[in-house]
Amino acid sequence: MSEELIIKEIDDNKEEYIEFLRGLIKAKSYNPPGDEKNVALKIKDYLNGERIKCEILPFGDNRANLLAFLNDNFNYKNLLYNGHMDVVPPGNEEEWKNPPLSATIKRNKLIFGRGTTDMKGPLAAMIIALKILKKLDLNLSGNLILNAVADEETGGKFGTKWSLDNKLNEIKCNFSVIGEPSGLNPLPKAIILGEKGHLQIRIITNGISCHSSTPFIGENAIYMMSNIIQNLDNLEKYIPKVKPPLSLEELKKLISESFPSEEIFERIYSEQPLLQNVVKSLTQFTKSLNMINGGIKENVVPDRCEAIIDFRLLPDQTTEDVIDALKKVIKDLGYQIRDEPLGKPEDVFVYLDIFNQNEASYWKDWESSADLKMFHNIVEKIYKKKPFNFLFPACADAHYLRNKGYCPATILFGPGSAATAHAINEYIEIQDFINAIKVYTLFAYNFLKESND
Ligand SMILES: [Zn+2]
Repeated sequence: MSEELIIKEIDDNKEEYIEFLRGLIKAKSYNPPGDEKNVALKIKDYLNGERIKCEILPFGDNRANLLAFLNDNFNYKNLLYNGHMDVVPPGNEEEWKNPPLSATIKRNKLIFGRGTTDMKGPLAAMIIALKILKKLDLNLSGNLILNAVADEETGGKFGTKWSLDNKLNEIKCNFSVIGEPSGLNPLPKAIILGEKGHLQIRIITNGISCHSSTPFIGENAIYMMSNIIQNLDNLEKYIPKVKPPLSLEELKKLISESFPSEEIFERIYSEQPLLQNVVKSLTQFTKSLNMINGGIKENVVPDRCEAIIDFRLLPDQTTEDVIDALKKVIKDLGYQIRDEPLGKPEDVFVYLDIFNQNEASYWKDWESSADLKMFHNIVEKIYKKKPFNFLFPACADAHYLRNKGYCPATILFGPGSAATAHAINEYIEIQDFINAIKVYTLFAYNFLKESND
C-alpha cells in the first residue's frame, strides 16, 4: 500500500518538483570558484518547509556542505544519499541556445541548463525523496542521510572528504547512493559499482639556455622532455601489475544482461565503437600526453619545457605507485628530480607538479548483495527496462566512501545521460528526473522499513 501512496504522491506533485529543480539550477555554483552555499540555502529552505533537520556546514568564501536527516535515530540502518552542488563553468555562453542558468523548459519534456544532468537533477531527486518520506510519515526504523557536497568537480577534498572528516564519520552507513547521471545512451540505465582513478602530472624539464649557434653550451629542455616522453612506456615495468576488477568478457556480459538476447547485444555492440572503447578502457591502466609547451624564440636553446600527462588507474593501483614509477623512469635517464620548481640558470633537473589525484575504487562484494538486487528491481519496475551493473571510466566521489572501509556498498545511479554532462546545452529529460525521484524514494522506503531486516 505504501508503495502506491509514494507513487501517487510523486505523480500529484510533479510541477512542484520541477520548480524546485529549476531553482537549484538558477542558483549559481560554477566551480571554480564554487559558491555552493547558494544551492545549500535553497535546499535548507525547501527541507525546512517539511521540518527536516538540516545543517549547513560552511567553509571558505561562500562555500558549504550540507547534511540533512530523516529522523534522530542512527541505531538501526542508515542509508546515505550523496550529490554534489557544484557544476562545471558553462564555457562560451554564446554557444548556448538558452542562458545556462535559465533552466528553460522545452516541449514540456526537457530542462536545459548547466548542471541539469551533472548533477542538480539527480541531487534534487534525492532531496525530494527525503521530503516525501518525511511528509508521508511511513514509520521507518532506519534513517536517510542526505549529504549535498561542494567541490566534486575539482576533486572532492572540500566536499565529500570534508563531510566525512567533519561529521559523517560518526554515522555508520550501510549503503550509499551517489546520484551521478548513469545513462549511457543508447543503453538502458547503468548502476555503477566502481570507477577508475585519475592522476594528472605536469612534468617540467629545466635545462640551460644559450644561443642556438652553439647549442652544445646549453642543455635543451625540449630534448630532455622528448627523452622522457619516448621512455614513458617503461612505466609499465615499475607499476605493480593488477588484474582489472572485471575482464572484457565479464563487462560485456553485464551489459548483455539488459538485452533480450546475446545475439541482439552482440549485433549492437559490434556497431558501437565508442562503447567498445569504453569497455576496453575499463580493463587497463591508460596514459595520455595531452599538453606540451616549450621554447621562447627561434634562435634560443630552451631552458624550460612543460608537459601534462593524464593517467587513469585501475582499482588496486594507487596514485603513489604511478608517481614512484614515473620518478624511476626519469632517474633511469640520468636526470635529477627536485622538490622545488625553481633553480639557478646552470641547474639541470626535472620537477613534477602533481595537481590532480583521485584513487580508483570498486565494491568487491556486489554480487552477493540483496540490497543491490532490490535497487535493480526498483529501477526495472520504474523505468520499465532492465538496468545493468557496470563500471565508470571517469572518476567520482565514490572512492572517499568505498576506500578505507567507510561504506564499501556504494553505487552510482542517477537520471541524466553521461554524454550531456559538462557539454554545451546540457539538459535532462523531465520523465527521467521524475522516475529517479520514484527510484530513490521507493528504495529508501524498502531499505529502511523494519521488515526488511
Ligand atoms: Zn557529477
